[in-house]
Amino acid sequence: MPEAKLSLRSVHKSFGGNHVLRGIDMDVATGEMICLIGASGSGKSTLLRCINQLEPIDDGSVWLDGQDISEPGLDLGPVRRRIGIVFQSYNLFPHMSALENVVLAPRRVLQEDGDALNARAEALFDRFGLAQHMRKYPDQLSGGQQQRVAVIRALAMRPEIMLFDEITAALDPELVGEVLNVLRQLRAEGMTMLLATHEMGFARELADRVCFMDGGVIVEEGPPGQIFSDPKVARTQAFLRTVL
Ligand code: ADP
Ligand code: MG
Repeated sequence: MPEAKLSLRSVHKSFGGNHVLRGIDMDVATGEMICLIGASGSGKSTLLRCINQLEPIDDGSVWLDGQDISEPGLDLGPVRRRIGIVFQSYNLFPHMSALENVVLAPRRVLQEDGDALNARAEALFDRFGLAQHMRKYPDQLSGGQQQRVAVIRALAMRPEIMLFDEITAALDPELVGEVLNVLRQLRAEGMTMLLATHEMGFARELADRVCFMDGGVIVEEGPPGQIFSDPKVARTQAFLRTVL
């Protein structure tokens, strides 16, 4: 049984005849931040979705605190509460305030009480510098603010691991920084995180480890200083030439 917080063992995933993940092995320690980089179509999103079991895997296993969470028939509700995910499209409910968006799932799923939950949610808005916006509706917020609310909404479920799938990719360039700052803060607070990202500068600054994916495998991984300055594998070198 793996001892890491999160472990993947020989994970395979196909969509029809398209073999998208071709044997992924990974160990993530508590508090570690891992950046997944790679060209579009290399399997980054699929990997994240297979981690929190939004997609069933075809072969291999995914372990969370020593428990096989990819076992068929397992109740996935608890797993998805423990592993939060934020996507490129933030999908807040437009008819609810930011605060109402954030308390919705904890109220329904964690069955938390109104006042205590509101206080906890307000503290989250405060912690991420959005207290003055929590009564606003999504259309009154910038894209960057909406994405920060989406992160807060995921954090409100008290996840142990956070997955982020290109969460700045849809934002205007001037709004990217405020969302990356939220990730910086989470990193500093010790959250265990996996990020698929095109923000190479950010990966370089904050990742403990960078994994370069190509064709559904992790071709090369290492500390950002090594991956970005001294990639060993030709495919990594070629990819980095196109993005750096
Ligand atoms: P990335 O996030 O690195 O761009 P993806 O994981 O989104 O890569 O996609 C990898 C491959 O899997 C692509 O060929 C894509 O078309 C395919 N794919 C992803 N999700 C699905 C799906 N739900 N159904 C069918 N094919 C999918
Ligand atoms: Mg993707």
